[in-house]
Amino acid sequence: MTEVNVLPIDQAKGAVFGQITEMNHEMVVFCHDKKTNLKAIIAIHNTSLGPALGGLRMWAYQNEADALNDVLRLSRGMTYKAAISGLNLGGGKAVIIGDSKKEKTEAMFRRFGKFVNTLSGKYITAEDVGTSTDDMVHISKETKYVTGLPQSMGGGGDPSPVTAYGVFMGLKAAAKHLWGSDDLTGKKVLVQGIGHVGENLVGYLSKENAIVFVSDINKESVKHVSEKFKTGVVDPKDVYEADVDIYSPCALGATLNSNTIHKLRCAIVAGAANNQLADENLHGQMLLDRGIIYAPDFLINAGGLINVYSELNGYNRESALKQTETIYQQTLNILKKAAEEKITSHKAATLLAEQRLNKASGN
Ligand code: NAD
Repeated sequence: MTEVNVLPIDQAKGAVFGQITEMNHEMVVFCHDKKTNLKAIIAIHNTSLGPALGGLRMWAYQNEADALNDVLRLSRGMTYKAAISGLNLGGGKAVIIGDSKKEKTEAMFRRFGKFVNTLSGKYITAEDVGTSTDDMVHISKETKYVTGLPQSMGGGGDPSPVTAYGVFMGLKAAAKHLWGSDDLTGKKVLVQGIGHVGENLVGYLSKENAIVFVSDINKESVKHVSEKFKTGVVDPKDVYEADVDIYSPCALGATLNSNTIHKLRCAIVAGAANNQLADENLHGQMLLDRGIIYAPDFLINAGGLINVYSELNGYNRESALKQTETIYQQTLNILKKAAEEKITSHKAATLLAEQRLNKASGN
């Protein structure tokens, strides 16, 4: 038998349970399989509304603590996203530690699928950064608790068009809240990041006769989308100072921060990117102080989650889009609550999500 190094008990004390208790997780599962080189963590944050559904991320984390932090933070985010979107889902997420470009194998994903299966539906997986529909197909050979499958297998396929539709709904609701009308004709909208979601969003905005500008570090995408939809183009370095009515971050997180918010000339921020506020409290408040309306990202980008959720009862894109339309009313509710209570829209959304969670769990 090989000798193993085990941390002295007092040194290890609180290292994992401390974090789990702090963030109020229900369950964390560490999955290991030497043969397939699988090291995965499944985090189930809250199941009071339903099974925990959340994507599987594959990432070459610097160390295991980073992987744990990420999965704990992401799974908690899923609880709030499902709750605010009115879905009967809990919050969960999983990570595989590894380089998705070099270390993926079918056996690894099948082994992960077996671990998911042992949870008997308490956690349902889906694709995320570093994983694809193909990986979900491998997982589906071992468990039925997987979504994000191709349409040919009864799945929802690429969720981005549905995400874009939800962002469009949230953006229109913010316009209605601020200007009394959600007609975007003649409104200048800048979409930062014209990838899967951004390009679809540009399509919706163009149809609505908004004056659209696009920005992306990928020059080919800029050429393709600006020619296809006849939009203006903004250089990536000029995005924050751009003279537009609406800024729609659809590229990266944390673009709303202490270096950018004072430059903004827009009246509304509404986009798809996750975690747009570098610091939820500080930067939410900075936007509020500047009178800029912010449509909470975790609500208006929930179309992708709604899309995979609809796979659970037999996928139908029409009904997924219909359910995504509820983002419009929920955005209006949140912005109204925020204005009445003089709190940030992020806080208002969080409070509404917590209300729903507490009601479901009898608190
Ligand atoms: P994507 O990778 O297809 O597109 C991102 C685009 O942003 C790319 O074209 C990239 O070149 C561009 N980009 C990267 N850095 C940039 C920069 N500094 N300035 C300008 N452009 C930059 O991703 P996506 O699927 O369209 O997702 C966009 C965002 O929405 C991500 O933050 C993602 O997490 C979030 N989101 C996506 C979905 C979905 O269904 N795809 C769901 C929820 C949230």
